[in-house]
Amino acid sequence: TVYHDADADLSVLSDRTIAVVGYGNQGRAQALNLRDSGVSDVVVGNRADDSRQQAREDGFEAFDIAGAVSRADVVFLLIPDEVAPAVYEEAIEPNLSPGDLVNFASGFNVTYGYIEPADDVDVVLLAPRMIGTMVRDLYTQGRGAPALFAVHQDATGEAHEVGLGLAKGIGATRSGVVESTFEVETTTDLMSEQALFPLFAHAIMAKYRVEVEAGVPPEVALLESYLSREMAYIFEQAATKGMIEQLLLHSRTSQYGQLKGLESFDPEPMVAYMRDRLDAIQSGAFAEEWRAEQREGTPHLDELFETYRQSAFVQREQETMETLGLGDQ
Ligand code: NDP
Repeated sequence: TVYHDADADLSVLSDRTIAVVGYGNQGRAQALNLRDSGVSDVVVGNRADDSRQQAREDGFEAFDIAGAVSRADVVFLLIPDEVAPAVYEEAIEPNLSPGDLVNFASGFNVTYGYIEPADDVDVVLLAPRMIGTMVRDLYTQGRGAPALFAVHQDATGEAHEVGLGLAKGIGATRSGVVESTFEVETTTDLMSEQALFPLFAHAIMAKYRVEVEAGVPPEVALLESYLSREMAYIFEQAATKGMIEQLLLHSRTSQYGQLKGLESFDPEPMVAYMRDRLDAIQSGAFAEEWRAEQREGTPHLDELFETYRQSAFVQREQETMETLGLGDQ
């Protein structure tokens, strides 16, 4: 099911206080969008630091997390997944009342049982498919970030209606809200990260390797494959016109080359890799591995960052970006 503006009603929020917990990228964007949609009773819960100060400068009443939750009927949990279980146990759970609603932005902790909300609260998921700054930018342009929506627990019988009201409040129904489950959101999110991104990155690095071996200057190979942003533009076109229809923007030589390549490439080894990742995600093995890594202070994550930062490819990429004046534009 896909929901749009006409399917959601903001009036269900009129007698509810909403606490946005975590005033980071998502927290700030969603709190501002709610207010601009006419949801007046929004408070912020954050540690006492610059983010809490920012919330006050933006005109919100801001408290520590326990303080915000105890004032609220609806809690947006917009802190990183890694810290959410401990924060939930210490500051959120003890301050919830029966009939309150907890809104997650990621299915991860509920899917793997790292957070198990009490039976007497509503539990929903409203996961924008967009980084926080875009959630805000699209809203101010009169558009909205699409989102996945799910009801995990409906203690009051109103979780669905209130959840859709929240989706409208953050602007998501302007675009489209797709009903799903916490498990599906977790799977597709982790699969994008673990199955798709590594293959994109490897494809670019492999093309670079082959071209440089054949005498193509490294900066030319890098510019052509992604630094020029042509590839980003192509993906934007794919999202609006379609993966194949966007080919009409390319030359006939390009169209023939791309479609022949698509036909001749054997995707099966890639499919097998993706099935492995899916197994690790759905069995919980990845989640447990990541928990163990965090308990040890993330040594492997740090080592991987270091290894890739020092690789010849990345060093050359950084030099090229500097030479060409690219980078954060
Ligand atoms: P940010 O890093 O921008 O914000 C994190 C917030 O959590 C900050 O307010 C931060 O507070 C707070 N925080 C961090 N550590 C702690 C802690 N130990 N105790 C209390 N508060 C803490 O993250 P995002 O806004 O990008 O993401 C938030 C969540 O939203 C993510 O975990 C993800 O599940 C979900 N989400 C993110 C999307 C994305 O594209 N980024 C898309 C959809 C969902 P402080 O400022 O004080 O450090």
